[in-house]
Amino acid sequence: MLRIECPHCGARDEAEFSCGGEAHIARPKEPDKLSDAEWADYLYMRTNPKGILAERWCHTFGCRRWFNIERDTVSHEILRVYAMGEPRRESGT
Ligand SMILES: [Zn+2]
Repeated sequence: MLRIECPHCGARDEAEFSCGGEAHIARPKEPDKLSDAEWADYLYMRTNPKGILAERWCHTFGCRRWFNIERDTVSHEILRVYAMGEPRRESGT
């Protein structure tokens, strides 16, 4: 089980949180102009790296706030916890 550092409540067990999937997925500015394949790509296709992944998490059974984390998908180590509006780090760092 992961131990996640909520930026508002402190460290809690993973069971208190819900994962919202990959972070930084931008909604298309003009979705009406997308083909079905492009729309499906936006809705369903996500990266699946062996390494660092930015994810959205919600402290569902705590403060109910959303935040982002960077997690190593191999070791599950959480490398960074940051606010929803903050940018991801440059890849490869
Ligand atoms: Zn919290």
